[in-house]
Amino acid sequence: MAAKVTVIGSINMDLIAEAERFPRKGETLLGGDFHTIPGGKGANQAVAAAKLGAEVTMVGCVGDDTFGQPLIAHLKEQGIFNVNVEPVTHFPTGVAQITVAEQDNTIIVVPGANNQVTPEVVRQNEKAIQESDILLLQFEIPLESVEEAVNLANKHNTTVVLNPAPMQSVSLGLLEKVDFLTPNEHELTELLDTEEKKQFYEQHRGKFFVTQGSNGVQFVEGDQETLVPSYKVEVKDTTGAGDTFNGGFSVALAEGKSFSEACRFGNAAAALSVSQFGAQTGMPNREDVLRLLD
Ligand code: ADP
Repeated sequence: MAAKVTVIGSINMDLIAEAERFPRKGETLLGGDFHTIPGGKGANQAVAAAKLGAEVTMVGCVGDDTFGQPLIAHLKEQGIFNVNVEPVTHFPTGVAQITVAEQDNTIIVVPGANNQVTPEVVRQNEKAIQESDILLLQFEIPLESVEEAVNLANKHNTTVVLNPAPMQSVSLGLLEKVDFLTPNEHELTELLDTEEKKQFYEQHRGKFFVTQGSNGVQFVEGDQETLVPSYKVEVKDTTGAGDTFNGGFSVALAEGKSFSEACRFGNAAAALSVSQFGAQTGMPNREDVLRLLD
């Protein structure tokens, strides 16, 4: 039976304009290529988990506009079992407006409908949370909704994986209630912004799975610190590496794999994703990952 993963999170359309250089303030510039690509951390992680073999429920909000329906259709096409996403009126679909120039980028994220993933929307999906092996969350929806989801998961003994990105200032209470945290190194530093939280980290190292880019992922089990190394690949585009890791890690945990096996599975999936262009477009299938793990 397939592992069941529920993702409650953001759904965006990435609008990417390529140009030779960045425009100056007040300037209009002619660009080169333009791409519209489905994104958002929630949707990315849901697609990763579905491609890696889980039965995924995606809960989120899009706007009743040009991008909303295509994004819902896209999630279904990617094999997401249950798309609990209704277009909301009066709010635009979340977008990330990205300019790529001079081997760098600038990004403006407009959350729009993602802010309508309210605690009430979360409560409407209590059954999905209850029936899942893993609830996978990020920080691109309101914090109070993340908290509500964690409370419902605790009530039903569903394991929670929280990818604390982009960082928001969180309460110690929330950290106590989640089972696994998957910050990258930068997010870990930001997360531990008080003495209390630093102490919590020292006392609960077992909850933290810290991704370290091309080095892999580090965790502590008992007294032992383990670094599960990443796979060496030719890097084309690291967008979505963390999202693919989180999808893979969650699927493997839901299947009852050990921590180090779950990290290896997540690392293999993420390595394959960085060897391809795009976040969701570069995500591997389960067979690709199993081949690399062999
Ligand atoms: P984020 O994408 O959230 O910033 P990281 O950069 O830590 O997170 O990457 C997440 C995971 O993606 C890593 O733990 C690793 O498994 C994989 N990864 C990232 N960069 C590379 C790389 N250059 N080569 C192979 N794997 C990578």
